[in-house]
Amino acid sequence: MFPYYEGMGRVYSDKELEELKSKEENDIIEEKELSLEECKNVIEKHNIKFIEEDLKVLDLKLLSDNTKQFDKLLNKYPIMKEYIANKNMHFGAESFANKSTVAAFRNGLDYKNLSIHLSKNKYSSYDSFIKMEQNEVYIFHSMPCADNMLSVYSITHEFGHFIENKFIDEYNKEHMAEFMNMKTRALNAKTISQSKKIFKDWEKKISNEVADQIYDIAKSKNKDFKFKENLSEYGKINSMELFAETFANMECGKPNELGEAMREFLKRKGIV
Ligand SMILES: [Zn+2]
Repeated sequence: MFPYYEGMGRVYSDKELEELKSKEENDIIEEKELSLEECKNVIEKHNIKFIEEDLKVLDLKLLSDNTKQFDKLLNKYPIMKEYIANKNMHFGAESFANKSTVAAFRNGLDYKNLSIHLSKNKYSSYDSFIKMEQNEVYIFHSMPCADNMLSVYSITHEFGHFIENKFIDEYNKEHMAEFMNMKTRALNAKTISQSKKIFKDWEKKISNEVADQIYDIAKSKNKDFKFKENLSEYGKINSMELFAETFANMECGKPNELGEAMREFLKRKGIV
């Protein structure tokens, strides 16, 4: 710091100040590591079940960082705390059938039983986890992410799915007849995979509308906005991954134009 005299140029631009602010927010991860017991207490105070027998096999530093990030996001978005008050939510770990899966958010067919699960395999070593996430960012399979946020990029992505699930849930309630109709079709489908597809298509339709709104915001801020250059490869899979990736980008210290559009979108929706 040094004195400011009238007429002097600014030391930091608005953009730099924003970066410093998000760096400060992100420094929470650098604090002391939580024990397994402390992680459990942090999660359970949010009325979320901590599946200790599965989570205890994870690398403790990764579990600690991810617990802190989950806690930080819930505190930052109190509307999500309210949302889970009348749901059953689990925080756990599993061995995914698909070996490349890092983490998963699930909402159950009734949108009542929610869970976030981390991969037992991927989260077993801190160093290899960071290397993997670093590489994902480097090849733009994941969105830009600050170095000190790599350990929590994936859980932040899942938190994005969690927020979008709230939009879908609300949409279902507002379009009850249509929703019930879809559900009947899904339950009467010949195979489980057909049934799953009917559900997925329904959610994608709602998610497409959400993605369009985020895109419109980005476009209104910069008419030359390039969608492809701002969205990771993973985000290009479908509009639900777009949402989760954009949310992770916004929260992980290096927001691009899409990340900034997400911030504006959540503000307009009253989420933050
Ligand atoms: Zn995802």
